[in-house]
Amino acid sequence: KIFPMFVRALPDGSGKISNYSSDIKMFPMFVRALPDGSSKISNYSADIKLFPTFVLALPDGSEKGQFLALDLGGTNFRVLRVRIEDREVDIESKTFLIPQRIMLGTGTQLFDHIANCIGKFITEQNLQGEKLPLGFTFSFPCKQEGLAKARLSKWTKGFRCEGVVGEDICFLLHEALKRLGITGVEVVAVVNDAVGTLMSVANNDRRCEIGLILGTGCNACYMETLDNVGLWEEDCDFPQQVIINTEWGAFGDNGCLDFIRTEYDRELDTYSINPGKQIMEKMISGMYLGEIVRLTLERLYNEGLLFNGMDPECELFVRGKFYTKYVSEIESDHDEFFRNTKQVLDELGIENYTTDDCKIVKYVCTLISARAAFLSSAGLATLINRLNKDHMTIAVDGSLYRFHPRFHNLMCLKIQELVKPGLKFKLELSHDGSGKGAALVAAVSTRLL
Ligand code: ADP
Repeated sequence: KIFPMFVRALPDGSGKISNYSSDIKMFPMFVRALPDGSSKISNYSADIKLFPTFVLALPDGSEKGQFLALDLGGTNFRVLRVRIEDREVDIESKTFLIPQRIMLGTGTQLFDHIANCIGKFITEQNLQGEKLPLGFTFSFPCKQEGLAKARLSKWTKGFRCEGVVGEDICFLLHEALKRLGITGVEVVAVVNDAVGTLMSVANNDRRCEIGLILGTGCNACYMETLDNVGLWEEDCDFPQQVIINTEWGAFGDNGCLDFIRTEYDRELDTYSINPGKQIMEKMISGMYLGEIVRLTLERLYNEGLLFNGMDPECELFVRGKFYTKYVSEIESDHDEFFRNTKQVLDELGIENYTTDDCKIVKYVCTLISARAAFLSSAGLATLINRLNKDHMTIAVDGSLYRFHPRFHNLMCLKIQELVKPGLKFKLELSHDGSGKGAALVAAVSTRLL
């Protein structure tokens, strides 16, 4: 046909991009170079620490034996006996209480208490005299110096035991076991919950190389090639890989998320115990979502747009009183009766609300949880694109992902938009990452010895 295209000149180099009048805006993004392959992971100045975990391999199915696992720092303290054979994992566990006086006592008291619980468990399970490698899920910030060497950086979650910060927790546990005359138990691995989550799904799915936590906090880990890990200072001939604990909850601590942070995010941060820190986590995780919703509703009330005539003494005005589980409950309402929403509003002591109020409350919840799901999807898509494998499974754990009615679907849709065309992925719920996963790390490390 030879259609004329009405383009009458080729660029002569004199034209500049400007958007004052054009429809296509050509915004400069201030990103001035593409990766040239020379960049390695290093954390000296980065907000996202990308710590190598010393976990060098995923389960390959040949793991076999009997292991102990300890889970400290989640909701409960547990001791577990884990038997592994042919990818089958059999678990028996017991939950123990850690009394307040021990949580606030000395390190010696804490580790003696833990060793004592291990001793009781061994007796109950008839394991006296057996050789028992132990995987320890210790969910507090640590500087890991080896698979079984981790120094506590600081206590969190209500623990404050004297004389532990800066110390190697494996050494402290071994000393306590010695004091109590418990032999045969050897701590062979310390892991965090993200690594445990990854391991527990990877045991049955070879395509799983990413672990994600959406619980009290938000964090992810993934398997990286050692050549890319600038922080790796150990010798290692094989395998040439290591799980990286991204600690990505700190994304945004340098201000790079400021363009999407709202006044509610800023207020939540100001009144948090760690202002300026864990900025992305504060926009995503279960510890904060409810509070962001509460702050938004409070503003709508103050503007006269919600709960007209409500008692200003009610709990909506008290920090921390709008739990993240409320967000899940409210979003589970699917009809005009708003049964869950009304129950939550009743619990908060809000009276005389209207159906429009319920609609607004639910709408606010959907916006805030969708933002959280999209931000975690952006992080995951980055890892999926980096690993660049045809099919990938992501292991996920945490009550927010587990119980929120839309989180899984929102994430699948958003990740699909953000990954390179052709890359396929699935999100798989992990079961007992902090118990089973820790034992699997112990099993893999004994296999590699
Ligand atoms: P942890 O991360 O401490 O090991 P969880 O995975 O249970 O434990 O996460 C606890 C977090 O999940 C809390 O911050 C809580 O607000 C949130 N949470 C608990 N139940 C729900 C729910 N039904 N929907 C959404 N979030 C929830």
